Amino acid sequence: MSNLITDEQFSMLCEHLKQECEFEEMSEVVKVGKELKVKREPIWKCDHTLSHTVAWMDAHGVQDIRANVDIIARFGGHCDCKVLFHTATYWNERENEEVMNTFDPENWVTLDEWTQFIDHLMAISS
Ligand SMILES: [Zn+2]
Repeated sequence: MSNLITDEQFSMLCEHLKQECEFEEMSEVVKVGKELKVKREPIWKCDHTLSHTVAWMDAHGVQDIRANVDIIARFGGHCDCKVLFHTATYWNERENEEVMNTFDPENWVTLDEWTQFIDHLMAISS
């Protein structure tokens, strides 16, 4: 567990991701019956990888990025925006054995499959 980033570093990462996955409003003109209306939709900028997460860790000298990505992904952080939506809820529980058992990937897949998943996640995020 000692290779994992601290709570403070994780908070810094989240602040960074909030900026990178900036909340944007998309608007388009749509026709409703005979009327034209402006439809607004909130969107997150996310490329469905952990590219900003990995780049942040790289820039901040994190030694074992893979170990961190593994835990981030266990908590549902499969892309930058989900780090904010899912991982942030559980990060401070990473040393709680009971919680970690709940998120043990072997509850769902084999260790081999999980390793391949993390390999893939690292490859598309680098
Ligand atoms: Zn996302």
